[in-house]
Amino acid sequence: MASASIDFVEVGPRDGLQNERTVVSTADKLELIARAIAAGARRIEVTSFVNPTRVPQMADAEAVCAGLPEREDVTFIGLVMNARGADRAIATGRIDQLGAVAVATDKFAIANQGQTSDESVEAAKAIIVKAREAGLTGQATIGASFGCPFEGEVDEVRVVEMARRLAEAGPVEVALADTIGVANPAHVARLVAAVRAAINPLPVRVHFHNTRGTGLANVWAAVSAGAGVVDAALGGLGGCPFAPGAAGNVSSEDVVYMLERAHISTGMDLDRLIESSAWLSDIIGRKLPGMVAQAPRFPQQPATKDA
Ligand code: ZN
Repeated sequence: MASASIDFVEVGPRDGLQNERTVVSTADKLELIARAIAAGARRIEVTSFVNPTRVPQMADAEAVCAGLPEREDVTFIGLVMNARGADRAIATGRIDQLGAVAVATDKFAIANQGQTSDESVEAAKAIIVKAREAGLTGQATIGASFGCPFEGEVDEVRVVEMARRLAEAGPVEVALADTIGVANPAHVARLVAAVRAAINPLPVRVHFHNTRGTGLANVWAAVSAGAGVVDAALGGLGGCPFAPGAAGNVSSEDVVYMLERAHISTGMDLDRLIESSAWLSDIIGRKLPGMVAQAPRFPQQPATKDA
C-alpha cells in the first residue's frame, strides 16, 4: 500500500551530469542546484568525490560545495566510493550526507570501484560509519540490484542480504538502484517488499534508469510496495560511465507528475521543474528525454494574464 507522500531526491547534479560529454560549468551546476531547491527539493545529490581522471565531470566537487547556498532545510548529498572520497567530502564542511555504493555483483563491482561485491559492502559500511563519526549522516545504495551488465540476472536473496548488512552501519536508508535500467515492476515490487522487511524500520529508497522504458512503472511499483524515497534527475538526464548502454535516470518532472496526479505528495512544484527542464536542455545542448516537459500542461492552468 502506497503512503500519501514520498521523499524526493534530486540526483541531476551528480548522476544526471556524470555521463554527459559536455562538461557543465560549476556555475551552471550551482544554478541547477538552486533551481532544484526552488522547485521544492530538500535532498539533492550535488556531486561525487571520485578520481577526476575517471570522472572528469565531477572534478569540481570542492568548488561546487563552496558555492552551495546556506540552507539548513536542505540535505546536500555527496557520493563517495572510499575513505579518501569521504575525507574530501567531509573536509568541504558543506556536505550533510555521504552516499556510499555497494554493488550486487563481483564483475560490476570491480568495473565500478575495483572491489568485489563483498568488499564494496564493507567499504560502504565504513563510509557510513565515517560519516556518522564526523557528525554527518550516511546512506547506502546497492548498485545493479535488478540486473548486471556483465553477469546478467542478480540473485534477490543476495540483494536482501546486502541490505541487511548495510543497515548494520546505521545509514538513513538503503537504496535499490537499477543502474542499467533492466528492472520490471513485478521484480521491483518483490524486492522492495523483501528489503523493507529486512531493514525495517529503515526506509527503502529507489533509483531507476529508463533505459528500456520501464522507469516510471518501476517507480509506481516501488512506491506501491512501500518505498518511501525516490531518486530522479531533472529532464531524465544521466547514465553511468562504467555501465555499457546505461541511459538516463527517471525524469524528475515525469515522476512528480505521475505521483502528484495519483495524490501522492512529493513536495515538488511541477511548473518550476518543467521550466528548469527547458533551461537544462539549453545548457546540455540537446533535447532531454523527460516527457512531461514536452507535453501540454495538464490540467490546463487557468489563464492568469491577458491571453
Ligand atoms: Zn544512476
